[in-house]
Amino acid sequence: MDKLYFDNNATTRIDDEVLDAMMPYLKEQYGNPSSIYSFGANNKEQIKKARKNVAKLLNAEEDEIIFTSGASESNTTAIMNAVRNNPNKKHIITTKVEHASIMEAMKYLEEKENYKVTYLSVDVSGRINIEELKQSITADTCLIAVMMANNEIGNIYPIKEIGKIAKENNILFHTDAVQAIGKIKIDVKDLQVDTLSFSGHKIHAPKGIGVLYIKKDTPFIPLIFGHQEKNRRGGTENVPYIIGLGKACELILNDEYQKSEKIRYLRDKLEEEIKQNIDDIIIYGDIENRVPNTISVGFKGVDAIQLMLMLEGQTIYVSTGSACNSEIAEPSYVLTACNADVNNYSPIRISLNKNNTEEEIELFVRTLKNIIKNMRRK
Ligand code: PLP
Repeated sequence: MDKLYFDNNATTRIDDEVLDAMMPYLKEQYGNPSSIYSFGANNKEQIKKARKNVAKLLNAEEDEIIFTSGASESNTTAIMNAVRNNPNKKHIITTKVEHASIMEAMKYLEEKENYKVTYLSVDVSGRINIEELKQSITADTCLIAVMMANNEIGNIYPIKEIGKIAKENNILFHTDAVQAIGKIKIDVKDLQVDTLSFSGHKIHAPKGIGVLYIKKDTPFIPLIFGHQEKNRRGGTENVPYIIGLGKACELILNDEYQKSEKIRYLRDKLEEEIKQNIDDIIIYGDIENRVPNTISVGFKGVDAIQLMLMLEGQTIYVSTGSACNSEIAEPSYVLTACNADVNNYSPIRISLNKNNTEEEIELFVRTLKNIIKNMRRK
């Protein structure tokens, strides 16, 4: 085993099948899909195929799918669209545990455009309170943005319930589904979301490609102008990456949900082994309602950054929070919002993928146990 990679909520390895599907469009079939001659125009058909797979995965219509550069762009587009389409409404509801791409947009709107933002609180397990959401709604609310699954603790949020509330109140509802896609089933019609985002690089497609789902007939103002994507997102289409993303969605449609069950089995085994072999630990998040691949765990008296570095020394890769924040040596804002005892039990995040094996889990637990024993001895 050359390395043990347990940081799949940060990013995933490109699947061989995905790469194989992309290669011809990087090397030989590089024509611009907007061209009239067939060398370019044929690529339009391939984009259509990819869009079909994405739409099928979400139970959406093909016209409701826009390709973007990633979920940060999709999130930003959805938020700016909601505010620009409702210039007289200056209130947004979100949570304290959203991804930075949502949080930073909220901060900007508060500081520069005089928006009032309600950040829903979370309990010790990271759950939101639907009553608080209902009570936060005002006649001035233009957007509710709640993630489908959290990147650090894996919690799954009650999107269907929120969708219903948003609809009843005629408020646009956006969900960031980056950490849910491929791990749990998503049906945009059932969930009643207006906009939804996800990213290729969390589902074994490349970095730099993502999706914005926008429900039919939702008013839309682009973030990037141009004629592509039916005037909704300018820029020459990233043909190979779109094809890669389409392939990754096709793989999920074919059998990945069953693989999710395999991942859940391995995650539960790993968690059980950690509990049995190492004392004084805390598992963070909503244990009963998490995506199947994630564990957030703290070990009493063990500094997570030191632990991560010690594991790295054994070519085992985990993270101390979300990838976007891990260079900042501050406690995770997600766990701080949960009122977690991060000083005594600083968290590492272990996130699995479909290629992990029982053998890897066993080796990981043995190594982890030894490292923690040594660290606690000092
Ligand atoms: N939202 C969540 C929950 C994420 O975990 C991430 C990536 O870490 C993003 C958004 C951003 O995705 P991208 O890297 O495609 O911009």
